Amino acid sequence: MPDENALVQMLIEEFGAEHFDDLRAELPDDPKAWWFKGRRPEDIQFYAVHHSGDGTTPRTDTSTIYNYHKQRFGGYGYHFTIYCYRSTPDGFWWKVRYTRSVLQWGANVKDKNDSVVGCVWVGDYAADPPDSETVETVTSVFERLFLVLDRWLGARPIVVGHRDLLQQGYTVCPADWAYGPNGPLMRLNARGQPPASGDDLQAQLQQALAQINSLQSQLADLQGRVQDLETEKARLQDQVSGLQTKIAQARSHAQATLDSLS
Ligand SMILES: [Zn+2]
Repeated sequence: MPDENALVQMLIEEFGAEHFDDLRAELPDDPKAWWFKGRRPEDIQFYAVHHSGDGTTPRTDTSTIYNYHKQRFGGYGYHFTIYCYRSTPDGFWWKVRYTRSVLQWGANVKDKNDSVVGCVWVGDYAADPPDSETVETVTSVFERLFLVLDRWLGARPIVVGHRDLLQQGYTVCPADWAYGPNGPLMRLNARGQPPASGDDLQAQLQQALAQINSLQSQLADLQGRVQDLETEKARLQDQVSGLQTKIAQARSHAQATLDSLS
């Protein structure tokens, strides 16, 4: 089993005690909650970005979100809870809280909780869109968090917004800030992956063309076999009707013989 204490240690090293706390023990699940199943690191496919949305502000207490989630889901829904707001005219207060084990399902994206690490930025950023400096600051917090998780997982899940995993119109979460040029979706998905060069694209195109050619010759083969089977079917149908004629002839011959005997 992967060592979750090692993850916590890495998070403390990354953010320092001032900007990180592990709140999991203070947010217990309802004893009857069955939802938060265990999972393996390799089950994780997405880092989902959320805002806490309706009725919250950048300073809403984690305990307020917890009480709401405990009623609805039996426990806290997000794996990480991020605070980031302007606390002085030129400074930000920010904090990363570990609020649900990443080795458990969360309750934050319908039908995808088995494969998502849910990370919420507290506030309603649909009602109150953040300025670009705030977006840049919180995106760098998300980035540092995801890089630590990448190292611990040994993998790079895709960064998505909550709404990207659901049918259109289901939710606005995490709101439009996340999709701008400085937001996490544009900036963090390109991590470490150089753009494809012209040569790469040409090689990919040639590979695709070769595949098309091979599929086309398979299709021609199948069409040939269909033709053969149709010829065979016609031949058998001829035989069947030949036999039917012979049976009818034999029957009338037998009848005529019978008649002549009586
Ligand atoms: Zn959400």
